Amino acid sequence: MSEFPYADQYEIHRGLPEEGTDRGAILSMLEAMSRAEDPVWETGQCSGTMYCGDHDHYDFLNEAFSHFSYVNALQRDMCPSQTKFEAEIIAMTLDMLGAGSIKGSEPAGLVTTGGTGSIAHAVLAYREHGRAVAGRANMIKPETAHPAFSKAGHLFGVEMRIAPVDPVTTQVDLDWVRIHIDENTVALIGSASNYGYGTVDPIGQLGALALEHGIGLHVDGCLGGFILPFGRELGYDIEPFDFSVPGVTTISADTHKYGYALKGTSVLCFADRALRNDQYFYLTDWSGGKYCSPGMDGSRSGGLLAATWAAMVHLGRSGYRRYAQAIFSTSAAMQDAVRSHPSLRIMGKPSFLFSFTSDEFDIYHVNDFLRTRGWRMNGQQYPNAIHMAVTRPQTQPGVVERWATDLADAVSYALAHRSEAPRSGAIYGGVEGGPSDEADEFIKAVMADMMDSQLSIPPL
Ligand SMILES: *Cc1c(COP(=O)(O)O)cnc(C)c1O
Repeated sequence: MSEFPYADQYEIHRGLPEEGTDRGAILSMLEAMSRAEDPVWETGQCSGTMYCGDHDHYDFLNEAFSHFSYVNALQRDMCPSQTKFEAEIIAMTLDMLGAGSIKGSEPAGLVTTGGTGSIAHAVLAYREHGRAVAGRANMIKPETAHPAFSKAGHLFGVEMRIAPVDPVTTQVDLDWVRIHIDENTVALIGSASNYGYGTVDPIGQLGALALEHGIGLHVDGCLGGFILPFGRELGYDIEPFDFSVPGVTTISADTHKYGYALKGTSVLCFADRALRNDQYFYLTDWSGGKYCSPGMDGSRSGGLLAATWAAMVHLGRSGYRRYAQAIFSTSAAMQDAVRSHPSLRIMGKPSFLFSFTSDEFDIYHVNDFLRTRGWRMNGQQYPNAIHMAVTRPQTQPGVVERWATDLADAVSYALAHRSEAPRSGAIYGGVEGGPSDEADEFIKAVMADMMDSQLSIPPL
């Protein structure tokens, strides 16, 4: 990649151009960039991120989006359609996640802009609703739970207590959780499944603990929420994790992942609407009028609600089940290829997403080699591991076979180069000696460079 993307092909804008550019020229530029970038994942060799990977589906969503792209979902009197879309997205998600089995409270939901938004709203709701008797509220999250919980804790002043996980199963250490619950603990957290290993925490036991202490339990189904229910229906060995489990009080599920909607939506489900209502913000004595909005955002895209609704209604249960079937069987076949190598070890009991490491060499050697064959894996640390979140692009014919061949060659490469330092390890893997200030500074610089790069380009 050049210093500044596309600097060699297109004009760089360091300020708002005085004269506008013709629509046709802009559209062909956008199309060229997008067509150039698609092949990275269209091959099926890229982990996660492109969940549907079907251009016909994307065209359909774009058309649905286009009818409401200019609508602000905040102005409900102008667009009753948005009330229908949002309410139905919530109702369909609640139904899929077992809300029918909730007794004694009224289930409810919130559509947010993504998994981070759903998690943030859950943390906020528990802080507002919970009884932090003696000071700052805290929640207990498994180390493997998504960084969004820590981010939300940082934003809302909620302490995140980090529970260790069993190194073999990668599931949360229940004894640690039990010992660290105190009078300020407002909720526990479990993942179904977690992003790193694709494993599911013991939700039933976490639920029992939560009930025993009268606190909440958030299940992070951002990744698994729209695929695990169908994996269970198909008979895959997945423990119950939804509202049918006593003690589960909120679940986040990302429509923009295995819900196959456009990027920018997620659903946060509540077993009890009182918990949701406690995180609403309103200002009734503002000179500009009485103000309220259900979540962190003010104005919201009507297009995204329409497209998300369209994806769900179009696929239906049978569509989601069919996609899940292909993904689960592809993942199982890819895992078999990993298991055929005694030097590789799969982490815990994964399902649609699997992670593996090696006790014989640094797994980043395998990553180094796979990159030369066009694979884009996600890297992990402590221990170094790499993962593949299987999505629909991997279910195309030939991908599993390519995986088996390339992985075998990668293992040979790793065995031959085991005495050297892997190239990709420094970026993705654990810097030797564990977490460090250097790693913090490095990551901060990377983020800043991404935002500021156009300013640093010398004038042409
Ligand atoms: C993706 C993900 C999140 C965060 O979602 P964003 O949509 O990226 O904000 C949270 N938890 C898990 C398990 C995820 O995979």
